[in-house]
Amino acid sequence: MKALQIEKSLLRFGAASLIARTKGSGKGASIGPLRYVDIPMPKEINDNWIEIKPILSGICGSDLSMLDGKSSRELESFVSFPFIPGHEVVGIRADTKKRIVIEPLLGCISRGLSPCGSCLSGHHDRCANLAFGDVDAGLQIGFCKDTSGGWAESFFAHITQIHEIPDSMDDSDALLVEPAACAIHAVLQDLPEPGSTVVILGAGTLGLLTLAAVAEFGKPKHIVVAAKYNHQKQLARELGATHVVDSDKVQAMVRSLTKSRLVGDTLSNGADTTYDCVGSSATIESSIMITKPRGTLVLVGMPTKGKIDLTFLWQRQIQMHGAYTYGTEQVSTGDEVPGAANGDASHSTSETFKLAIDMSHKVGLGRLHSATYSLEHYEDALLHAGQAGSRGAIKIAFAPNKNKKILREETETL
Ligand SMILES: [Zn+2]
Ligand SMILES: [Zn+2]
Repeated sequence: MKALQIEKSLLRFGAASLIARTKGSGKGASIGPLRYVDIPMPKEINDNWIEIKPILSGICGSDLSMLDGKSSRELESFVSFPFIPGHEVVGIRADTKKRIVIEPLLGCISRGLSPCGSCLSGHHDRCANLAFGDVDAGLQIGFCKDTSGGWAESFFAHITQIHEIPDSMDDSDALLVEPAACAIHAVLQDLPEPGSTVVILGAGTLGLLTLAAVAEFGKPKHIVVAAKYNHQKQLARELGATHVVDSDKVQAMVRSLTKSRLVGDTLSNGADTTYDCVGSSATIESSIMITKPRGTLVLVGMPTKGKIDLTFLWQRQIQMHGAYTYGTEQVSTGDEVPGAANGDASHSTSETFKLAIDMSHKVGLGRLHSATYSLEHYEDALLHAGQAGSRGAIKIAFAPNKNKKILREETETL
């Protein structure tokens, strides 16, 4: 099968990192650790694993970070080389020919282990056994050598990782389900209070999906989105932002909406909840400065390595935490609980992926899918993903079972 494979080569990772730093994201693809290869399908794991033929496989920010040599080397304990990336997948089950999306996390159940406490309660995002069991180390499909991955003509998914999608859902909406599940998980962990002020920094895939999730599940008064490019601003308005600003104007906007005063570089008050969907040292520091004392700061995407001044995190007692992947969520049903305090609603439990399939279908998140490439043209695809903002794009994907060079390109000219 044809595939894009990553080998463990310090030299190649180093070269890609140098090119990314000097010439820009995605430019080091030709000399980096990724190779276009023709290799045998990995051997079958056991009867619980089903062969999947990807229709579309997205390029995630974490894939780009890894290929640019920007992600932390500490994560290498949770991958097994050589592996095939690709964890945002809509595909076809080889056995039933049904269209599906995959939930790529490799927790205890897919690994054939008796479930740890987290997996037992549906929270496989917190699984303790990421390097053991029937398959080799790997946080997810797309980081594990035994499963293959979405950037190949075929891969294996465990029966419990497969979610069928409605016939009426188009492939682009389905492509966005996995990152939408990450965004929903980030939002439902700390659902903003009704009437509150929410800030979202960044309007790439994760920023826009976090916005969609806040608008879908919460009732804040203000949703401020900091966006750089015109097409991002347009999409932010479409998806429910009440205020869309350039990133250098976000503090002034929050100051005005929350009636804060400026004290040095910080605000006397600030946003109730800030979602940092960029994850650079600069945006984390900005997030701390615009979040109110005892407010919440959520790191939604994979942060890059760097130094951060945490003085005001401490002094403002901000609750900062990461949001990684998905699992099981508590969702308000909107029904008041008899006898409960005013406004308390009952909750139901749902798999994050089910919520993401519904949200992507209902909201039409496929509008974020900008361009599609064949595997063979991976250098162009990664360059496009690395320059997505300036080229009017959001999500770039591969169509691993198609050969035409560019299969879809919709570049905004706003
Ligand atoms: Zn991802
Ligand atoms: Zn587990």
